[in-house]
Amino acid sequence: MAASPKTIEANVDRVRETIASACARVGRSAAEVQIIGVTKTADLEDIKTLVRCGVTQLGESRVQQLTERAEQLAPWLAQQPLASEVRWHLIGHLQRNKVKPVLHATRIIHSVDSLRLAEDIDERAEQMDATVEVMLQVNCSQEPQKFGVAVGAACHLAELLGTLKNLRLVGLMTMAPLSENPENARPTFARLRELFDEIRGERLAHPDHFRHLSMGMSGDYPVAVEEGATMVRVGTALFA
Ligand SMILES: *Cc1c(COP(=O)(O)O)cnc(C)c1O
Repeated sequence: MAASPKTIEANVDRVRETIASACARVGRSAAEVQIIGVTKTADLEDIKTLVRCGVTQLGESRVQQLTERAEQLAPWLAQQPLASEVRWHLIGHLQRNKVKPVLHATRIIHSVDSLRLAEDIDERAEQMDATVEVMLQVNCSQEPQKFGVAVGAACHLAELLGTLKNLRLVGLMTMAPLSENPENARPTFARLRELFDEIRGERLAHPDHFRHLSMGMSGDYPVAVEEGATMVRVGTALFA
């Protein structure tokens, strides 16, 4: 699906303006909110346009597509002034047998939801002499089909992740239930924010590192920003 560069540019402007107004409504600075451009429906030219617009944080939900995209983009990227700022984020579910390939392409994973997975990442990171930034995915909406640790287990798991030397717990991530009405997402985002405050308040994670709330997608990111998101994962709103 190729969108025209002009369309993408206009979309980026609109998303930035929407984030700025949401921040203004609740007295936040727009500089606190990063756009993660989710490229799963975009083609390579779309991604280049996005990077040219200054969207340097790119997200993919599948490991194979992330590694392919990162590889395909690399030669072009190497010639761009923004090259050193571009980062791929894994935002979708990670199977334990995919830890090795994903760490060749990214050092930030939004979807850690078990100790076993975290231990695998830590072990592989140690072999690579790397530090991997991770977020704990929480199933705040308590939907049985969703990935993510249960709300009641999140604090304990956050604390355990803190003991893994090659992981850095940088925040929490959640997905709201699909809904036509963005307001339906608000309780989910507010819950994640409460958990975040609890983990910080009880110093279960390192306060210098534990700074991010990854929440909000195309249908609900303004609400997520009002509730404290520092990373919004936006795909459709950029490319459609
Ligand atoms: C696809 C996806 C998004 C972006 O969804 P849009 O509705 O296209 O903005 C965000 N987060 C995750 C985990 C996704 O898989």
